[in-house]
Parts: sequence; structure tokens; C-alpha cells
Amino acid sequence: NVRKVNENYFGSYSSFGIHKEMISDKVRTEAYRDALLKNPSLLSGSVVMDVGCGTGILSLFAAQAGASRVIAVEASEKMAKVATKIAKDNKVFNDKEHNGVLEVAHSMVEELDKSINIQPHSVDVLVSEWMGYCLLYESMLTSVLYARDRWLKPGGAILPDTATMFVAGFGKGATSLPFWEDVYGFDMSSIGKEVLEDTARIPIVDVIEDRHLVTGPVLLKAFDLATMKPDEVDFTATATLEPIESETEARLCHGVVLWFDTGFTDRFCKENPTVLSTSPYTPPTHWAQTILTFQEPISVAPANVLSGDDRRGAIGTEESPVSSIHLRVSVARASEHRSIDVSLEATGVSSN
Ligand code: SAH
Repeated sequence: NVRKVNENYFGSYSSFGIHKEMISDKVRTEAYRDALLKNPSLLSGSVVMDVGCGTGILSLFAAQAGASRVIAVEASEKMAKVATKIAKDNKVFNDKEHNGVLEVAHSMVEELDKSINIQPHSVDVLVSEWMGYCLLYESMLTSVLYARDRWLKPGGAILPDTATMFVAGFGKGATSLPFWEDVYGFDMSSIGKEVLEDTARIPIVDVIEDRHLVTGPVLLKAFDLATMKPDEVDFTATATLEPIESETEARLCHGVVLWFDTGFTDRFCKENPTVLSTSPYTPPTHWAQTILTFQEPISVAPANVLSGDDRRGAIGTEESPVSSIHLRVSVARASEHRSIDVSLEATGVSSN
């Protein structure tokens, strides 16, 4: 059965490919490595649980940091086997042959009771790389919160301990519009417009550079992972975007870009707090940014640039720029497994 052979081939290739992509994302992996290795007072002698260990990379860092016991939990049978082999090969595995600290539990973290010998509320440090596109798309956050409530000691550390979503407005340069406007001298902008219309319905993941932004960044939502409840994942938040102050003329804002930071703050990482940022102002990560386009672009300009003459058309059009854009963003878990629905409302606001 040729088709089956191919499926298996791509199956194993693609799943290792994902792990390679994550590990190669230095911004991501080094933030976790720094949090684990540069905070000895937290890690040394501690009991660590790694939720969704994959290859076991974070558990290996925890073992290297001097943890006394590392429980690497992984739902995928294949990855649990791989993580076990890797832990043995690196001489940190805990069994009769290998006197290390790392054990691998092949289990959903929600069903861990059945597979290991551990008391509830006895973990000192819970670590996980659970973040998805736009923070919450396909994210395992609710599994991590489950593990927190079942296994973490009161006052125990969760790494990362904060997650913050930001939003900013982007201009034409961030989209494929300019590309389609001049194709060997021909106007193919109708394709660019169609792409934009699609993005108004479905968010897309792409890298945005800070030079493409026409507004400053605004905080949209902050999660405290040590205390949040799972249902906080569904939220509606508002934000007001202001044009970049140094701008001397009106710019068209085509939509918004969303991104997130996760913090390993000094609440738990006392020696060396660190931040994993996926912003357009810092080097890109495999999460890139998430883009949502407005139905119609909104023209914005700093209030001091706007004059009475700028009031010739409908608010927010090129003839009548606005001084800010009011946003209402809703994120809700979709019925589809771990997917999310993001909805966006944008209104131009003029200051006079
Ligand atoms: N920690 C690794 C892998 C992160 S990817 C790294 O940083 O490179 C997330 C992993 O979590 C995947 O391997 C996935 O199979 C696993 N996973 C997802 N949900 C899980 C759950 N509920 N219980 C256990 N493992 C889970």
C-alpha cells in the first residue's frame, strides 16, 4: 500500500520537523534555557515537572541546572520514547542502570496519576512551552493550568509566569498590496485586494517589521499564569491605537498585528528574570506575528498634524484622518480542537 508508506514517511518527518523548528528558534529556546540555568536558587535541588516535554530539551536544562527530580510528561508515544532515549544517551535518566534525575511519563498531563508515583502538590517548578500562534491558537495552556492546580506546591513556581498580548496598527508595506500593484509594470492589485479581504475574515501568521507599523503598541491582555483560571482564556478587550508621534502626515492603517511576550519574572526567577518576546521590534521567532485586516483602511495622523482642512470626507478616510483607532478584540476557544476564534471591531476616533 504505497499511500500508507508515504503517510508514515511524512508523518515521522513532519513531527521531528516541528521539534527541529522549535529548538532552532533561539529566541524561544534560549529564553527557557536562561530561565532554568541562570536561576540556581530556584532550580537547585528542586522537583521540576515539564508539561509536554517533546524531545525533553527543557527537562535536560532542568537536570543540568541541578534539579533533584525532573518529571518529563509527554502525551505522544513516539516523543516519550525519543525523550527517554535522549535522557539515557545524555546520562541523566533515572532508572536502575542510569542514576540520573530525569524520568519520562508517557501520559496526557491530565491522566498522570495513573503513570507515576508522585504526591499531588509536590512539584516546586512547573515548566512548559505551551504557547501557540497568537498565544492561544492550539495552545496547551489549559493543560498547564490543570497541572498547576494538581501538582504544583502552594507558592511553587510556574515558568513562564506571565503572558501578555499586544496589538499595533500596520500600514500598506506590511501586506502584499504593493507587490501586486506593479508586476513587471502591470497592475495586479485586484489579487492584493482579494488577499486582504481574506485576512479580514481569517487571521494570518506572518512576520511584520516595526517599520511597517503606523501606530504604537498597546497592551491588549495580560495573563498571570500563577493565578489565572482556565476560563479567562476567552476574553474581550478594548484598546486605543495612537499614530506614531513623529509622523508628520496621515498614514493608512490597513489592520492590526497581534503578538505576545511571556515573562520569567523576578517573582520566581530572582537572580535572572527574562522575557521571551515575539514582537515586531525584536528578532523574529517561529510564532512570527498574527495579522488581522480591517474591511476598509483607516487614515490616522497625530492630533497636532490634523488641521480643520482635513475634514472633507467621511471619518477615517484619506480626506479625513482620525487621531486614534478604537479596537474591540474578542478571543474565544472554538469548538474545533484547540482552535480559537478572533474577532475585531475598529472605529476611527477624531479628537475634535
Ligand atoms: N517542551 C518541548 C516541546 C514543546 S511542544 C520544547 O520546548 O521543545 C509541546 C509538546 O507537548 C508536544 O510534544 C505535545 O505532544 C505535548 N503535549 C500537548 N498536550 C499535552 C498534554 N495535555 N499532556 C502531555 N503532553 C502534551
